[in-house]
Amino acid sequence: MISRSGPLFGVEKGGALELPYEPWWQEGLFFSCIGCGRCCRGEPGSVWLSPGELEAIAEYFGMESEAFRKGFVVERRGRMSLRERPNWDCVMYQGESARCGIYSVRPLQCRLFPFWPSILRTRRGWVERSSECPGMDRGRFWSADEIAALLAKSPFPDL
Ligand code: SF4
Repeated sequence: MISRSGPLFGVEKGGALELPYEPWWQEGLFFSCIGCGRCCRGEPGSVWLSPGELEAIAEYFGMESEAFRKGFVVERRGRMSLRERPNWDCVMYQGESARCGIYSVRPLQCRLFPFWPSILRTRRGWVERSSECPGMDRGRFWSADEIAALLAKSPFPDL
């Protein structure tokens, strides 16, 4: 069972995720990624990696973990993050094809977007982010149970 606590997250007790706020998304939300790549480029940000994710991506490239870390990873706030290019694009974003270069082994943070604790905390947070992501508020319906399950997977409370 996952158990985490934090100002933006919840605590799972007896199998139910308990949040430190009233979930405004109880009626569910809509989201389908259209693959525009906007969340992968153009502005500073961190893409956090667990040691296991670093190993998986290094293996995907046929590299030793340490060589991959030196070439593509930076340390921030005691965590590992993928590097950014000088224009702030994620180092794994492929501008020519507008695609993620490691899509099949992308980090959990990318898989969970936009169901992040920081975005789901308030309706305003969701609305603000939806102005940058054309996949939000359209497409697939996500029930409150599904959203809570995704929140429970969040690797960091401040994601
Ligand atoms: S900005 Fe939204 S729609 Fe575009 S790639 Fe990112 S998640 Fe998908």
